Amino acid sequence: MDLTAGYEMFLTDEHAMLRQTVRQFAEKEVAPFIRAWDRSGAEQHEGPETRPHIRPVLKRMGELGFLGICLPRRYGGAGMDYLALAVVCEELERVDSFLRVVMSVHTGLNSLSLFQWGSEEQKQRYLVPQARGEQLAGYCLTEPDSGTDAAAMRATARRDGDSYILNGEKTWISLADIADNFLVMAKTDPERGARGISAFIVERRWPGVSSQPIHGKLGVRAGNTGSVIFQDVRVPAANRLGEEGEGFKIAMAALDNGRYTVAAGATGLIQASLEASLRYARERHTFGKPIAEHQLVKRMLSHMVRKLDTSRLLVYRAGWMKNRGLRNTRETTLAKWHATVSSFECADDAIQIHGAYGYSDEYPVERYLRNARGAVIYEGTRELQELLQADFALGYRINPPLRCELPAYDPEAWG
Ligand SMILES: Cc1cc2nc3c(=O)[nH]c(=O)nc-3n(C[C@H](O)[C@H](O)[C@H](O)COP(=O)(O)OP(=O)(O)OC[C@H]3O[C@@H](n4cnc5c(N)ncnc54)[C@H](O)[C@@H]3O)c2cc1C
Repeated sequence: MDLTAGYEMFLTDEHAMLRQTVRQFAEKEVAPFIRAWDRSGAEQHEGPETRPHIRPVLKRMGELGFLGICLPRRYGGAGMDYLALAVVCEELERVDSFLRVVMSVHTGLNSLSLFQWGSEEQKQRYLVPQARGEQLAGYCLTEPDSGTDAAAMRATARRDGDSYILNGEKTWISLADIADNFLVMAKTDPERGARGISAFIVERRWPGVSSQPIHGKLGVRAGNTGSVIFQDVRVPAANRLGEEGEGFKIAMAALDNGRYTVAAGATGLIQASLEASLRYARERHTFGKPIAEHQLVKRMLSHMVRKLDTSRLLVYRAGWMKNRGLRNTRETTLAKWHATVSSFECADDAIQIHGAYGYSDEYPVERYLRNARGAVIYEGTRELQELLQADFALGYRINPPLRCELPAYDPEAWG
């Protein structure tokens, strides 16, 4: 059974071809090596020099057009729509989460923010090389003392003539040691809380920017996560994204895009868990028959099917809305919450189906579980998504067009 079939109301033949391209790349160029890369990430040296696989893989993703998949060709992108972004994320995370994390931070959180809020000059200077994969990009919101409560950040950017002086530490930053450019949120007016935050495009090569890898992560070990430190970094005012004080709004709008990629990726991870479980359940025999024929094993498989389809439908609904330029915070948040929690549960069931073999990295399912766990935390924890859904249902929060939506997909202008 083709687990991706039945979505013709959302996807075109072009999306199907894209799925094949991404799958071929991930299965040929990543899958054979991923166990070794994941194991190497458990060791102490996690900087880019000791993780030599990262840059070549990301370079290939750039060459294949994945990193700018849903950006207009005039900005270096592949000219496809936001559903194409979901397809890329699904197929990448079907093989390993570290590939999709790159799509989330580079494309979802950073490049789409430049597309949405950037001046033409900023787009030419940063978006074009990022969309082509010539430069890599990260997103710096979280700090040692502020995660969910992002507005409590301490980083500051003090105006000084034609520049700002940026100081602060961001932590748990994906691609911290790899990215060329960062989208950094900092307080330009600390008295004004969330309204005193501004967003800046910061280049790693500038004096005062440094990074340090985080060791001992539970999952996404094939990728890179670390802290980025800004010490008296002089940022030209021309590198402020949006207006002064708009940084929090930009950061939250970015999360609408990042969460969408996380949800799509989690759907791919559910599919990977299901595929591995179907294979193993047919092969493994107990009491004279394949374990697939035991009802309680079937129940786990059927729950995975349900979670796969419901997650995918929620993701594609959000993508459909993005294509039309509709505000989709509620729908994207729901997709992220449901798909990430489901992917953790499915990976857990996949281990159960594999019995003791599932408990070692001889089979991929223990990696799926470790990788799935992170997505229940990053880009808004499970609890934050729950609060948001309740607030929407109660009418405390609405989904209005707040000038926060991405530009609608326009096949004529993007191709
Ligand atoms: C692998 C990985 C990659 C990441 N990549 C990035 C990145 O690239 N850029 C970036 O900026 N950040 C990144 N993060 C950070 C991530 O976004 C934060 O970890 C996340 O926002 C949660 O913040 P926190 O860890 O500080 O938890 P806290 O905010 O301290 O929360 C701790 C616990 O309290 C709960 N909680 C907090 N407030 C409430 C409330 N009001 N009501 C109920 N419960 C509450 C939370 O749900 C959680 O269970 C990454 C994290 C991981 C694990």
